[in-house]
Amino acid sequence: TKVLLTGGSGFIATHILQQLLERGHSVVTTVRSQEKADKIKEAYPDLGYDRLDIVIVPDVAQPNAFDAALISDPPLRAVIHTASPFHFNATDIKKDMLDPAINGTTGILKAVVSNAPQVERVVITSSFGSMLDRSKGFWPDHTYSDADWCPLTMEEALQHPGAGYQASKTFAERAAWDFMEKEKPSFTLATICPPLVFGPATQSLSSLDALNTSNQFVRSYLLGTSKEEIPPTMNPIFVDVRDVALAHIAAIEKPEAANKRFFITGGYCSNRQIVDIIRKHFPEYHAQLPHVSAEGGDLPDPVYKIDNQPSKEILGIQYRTLEECITDTVRSFGSVGK
Ligand code: NDP
Repeated sequence: TKVLLTGGSGFIATHILQQLLERGHSVVTTVRSQEKADKIKEAYPDLGYDRLDIVIVPDVAQPNAFDAALISDPPLRAVIHTASPFHFNATDIKKDMLDPAINGTTGILKAVVSNAPQVERVVITSSFGSMLDRSKGFWPDHTYSDADWCPLTMEEALQHPGAGYQASKTFAERAAWDFMEKEKPSFTLATICPPLVFGPATQSLSSLDALNTSNQFVRSYLLGTSKEEIPPTMNPIFVDVRDVALAHIAAIEKPEAANKRFFITGGYCSNRQIVDIIRKHFPEYHAQLPHVSAEGGDLPDPVYKIDNQPSKEILGIQYRTLEECITDTVRSFGSVGK
């Protein structure tokens, strides 16, 4: 199948691209600059343009941004849209976060209708953030599932960058489902909703300071900044990036994934467990880690339950453990910039 993958330079998209190519798909991917295009080509020196083509889309928020990327011979059959800002340092939340997330999502859906009528499935990278109701805290009586929606309003979204990011994912995913309902296009949609994603950083990075936002949570323990206390666990669930990548691909390959949202999580994860795994496998970081006697970082108890059953049954995901995920993440940091 020929697939368009937006944001090909990103942490998650780098794994999606690798797995798409391994599974025999042909890929057109978009990046923001020629430099990023060249880095991707360098990673796959033996692939011709028929297997991997790269189109430069400088700003996904612009109208018609994806027109050129969608025109393809042979025609595209599926689209995976990952490009969206993920950081907590937006100065103008609307312009830096909400516009690219929402306009990028509606823009690609409109462009598929106009320019790529043979597309059968669109998959959008949403987030557990689009399900999570932070006002409920750890909500012990609740089971999070594909049925949950984050209730943030526009007014709340504009209050701080954390809320801005969560709202950007929520509003973008909502806009996608609204589009499906109103426009009734010929393709079907699936959305992928992962919590914090950790895993090997295989994207091109000039240094570890350029690491993607979610892996920075793992790296933070290697910097020696919290020796006396492990920070409280604010995000008690995780998923491995390789499982997230596979979920996107299964969502284009499996007919039964049509018109579904998927909660993609490998299970619970505390900051203490992350520190313990690093301590067990990486003696070279012992000096930087919190002291063995440091308190804190436990899993909140009680905590909400999680229902990821549809991702196992429909997408066939068999989740990696936290131990495998964190060891491979930390190991990958050693190759960055080399
Ligand atoms: P990255 O920051 O590595 O990837 C983000 C991608 O989006 C990059 O390719 C980036 O391009 C591109 N991008 C960002 N803003 C724009 C813009 N205005 N115009 C064009 N492209 C843009 O992070 P991830 O790989 O983690 O994120 C990928 C997707 O996964 C996002 O949609 C994110 O919201 C979602 N997600 C991530 C989670 C995580 O924990 N990592 C959890 C849940 C969802 P460039 O490389 O040029 O900056």
